[in-house]
Amino acid sequence: MRLPVAEIFFSYQGEGIYAGKPQVFVRLKGCNLKCRYCDTKTDKYKLISDTEIVNEIVKLSKNYFLPIYGQFIPSVAITGGEPLLYAEKLKGMLVNLKNRGFEIYLETNGTLFKELKKILGFVDIVSAGIKLPSANPGNKAFWNEHKKFFSIAKSKCFAKVVLTDKTTLEEIEKSAALIAEVDKNIPFVLQPATPAKGGCKSISPQGLYLAFKTLKRTLNYATILPQMHKIWGVR
Ligand code: SF4
Repeated sequence: MRLPVAEIFFSYQGEGIYAGKPQVFVRLKGCNLKCRYCDTKTDKYKLISDTEIVNEIVKLSKNYFLPIYGQFIPSVAITGGEPLLYAEKLKGMLVNLKNRGFEIYLETNGTLFKELKKILGFVDIVSAGIKLPSANPGNKAFWNEHKKFFSIAKSKCFAKVVLTDKTTLEEIEKSAALIAEVDKNIPFVLQPATPAKGGCKSISPQGLYLAFKTLKRTLNYATILPQMHKIWGVR
């Protein structure tokens, strides 16, 4: 099975509650959404067989994980774009990686719930976005998709919302209510957008405070975390 791979590299997880975790990243081409703040380019890619991808992951893991830990505790982040676009094609590779003792970390925009079902059994951690209407040019809402997605991912996932100057408190309240209806214990991360030249602006300090207060009223675990890899200057 061949997959469209934009890049494979070793780095440190830069977002969410596992920030700092050393991982091999496999970035797949394309996405079903067009977020205003998207900083990921996947237009250049190569079609690579799943066996070759696994070989590359194993090679990078041997280079990096062994010296770091003195033992083999490898973690692979399957990311994009939107990796669930290739759920069916990913199965064989994920089985191969699990058999080799890899931890599988899936980074997704949290909309393709039917695709998630196909591979959730092979995934250990799901980092799932909640894409707010203000995040996309058409102000499209994905509340129903997200509700179904989190109901399936439940104990394996945490939720992440990127906050911009366009984010409204109503959107945060709706996101918190959605997660609370599924499970109040799902960790929820507020991620202020990293200001980019010519790109979107981040939320104001006052807006961030109100967003956090809203989550704390509704959920058991809420936190604010920026994109750490941008601060560390790594990929
Ligand atoms: S879901 Fe992620 S990859 Fe897709 S457009 Fe939004 S930020 Fe970019």
